[in-house]
Amino acid sequence: MYNYPLYRPPSESNSLIIQATLGCSHNKCNFCNMYKSKKFTIRPLKDIKEDIIYFRQLYGYVEKVFLADGDALIINTEDLKELLKYIKDVFPECKRITLYGSPKSILLKTLEELNDLKNLGLYMIYMGVESGDDYVLNDINKGMNSKELIMAANRVKSSEILLSVTVIAGIGGVDNSKTHAIKTGELITKINPDYLGVLTLMVEEGTILYDKILNKEFKVLNDKEILNETKILIQNINVNTTMIFRCNHASNYISLKGSLPKDKQNLLNQINYYEETNRLKQEKYRRL
Ligand code: SF4
Repeated sequence: MYNYPLYRPPSESNSLIIQATLGCSHNKCNFCNMYKSKKFTIRPLKDIKEDIIYFRQLYGYVEKVFLADGDALIINTEDLKELLKYIKDVFPECKRITLYGSPKSILLKTLEELNDLKNLGLYMIYMGVESGDDYVLNDINKGMNSKELIMAANRVKSSEILLSVTVIAGIGGVDNSKTHAIKTGELITKINPDYLGVLTLMVEEGTILYDKILNKEFKVLNDKEILNETKILIQNINVNTTMIFRCNHASNYISLKGSLPKDKQNLLNQINYYEETNRLKQEKYRRL
């Protein structure tokens, strides 16, 4: 049924996944090989609708739908509106429809178009930010600078579609760790998304980044450095309205969750505690 590989955000684990696009419209980030095997394609509406009818026969109750693959938001607005309406017609019990939206495809939509999508049930957009540091964004070939990321995020926020963003600890390497953390914290402060997910860089064979590491052009952070970077990131996030903070992905060394600004000190304390416990353990082992 699905065209693999298939990805969805961890929070969509109970959602029905409908593939509206295949692959990623950008597909050029230097650390990512998620969709390297796929040519980016917007699937014909007729095929997507056939999938929806098929899923209706399989599932009696569908509360949440996630439109995969990467960047379903790039579908032209009239088709996307038709698709959202169709999902609601076939699954009247559906309470939320979400998708990945690249900053570029967000900027291709006007605020009015986003408002229309919101009114037809688009509940949340997941947007990869990765870093707030222009040097790093350029280095990883994100195809966007920090100003454009802020513009895209603000447009989503203005439409009142919920915005969930991800950043990547360690993506700047050892040399850019501190500036990456500070500037990413500052960017998150400006965006003030509804949700922030902090992932940790996982190096994949076959990527440009992998070759850079082999050529000693990029130094990967160790666990202590990642934790320190995460601390600096949190210290530099000063949001005004509540933002759900998650650092509990499989890639993370430590599982953290809370909401900012309320839990800021608590999150920092948890990292400090983890660091101190680790230091004591290591001292103990050294003495053995
Ligand atoms: S990180 Fe996201 S935007 Fe970049 S290539 Fe991978 S899927 Fe596409």
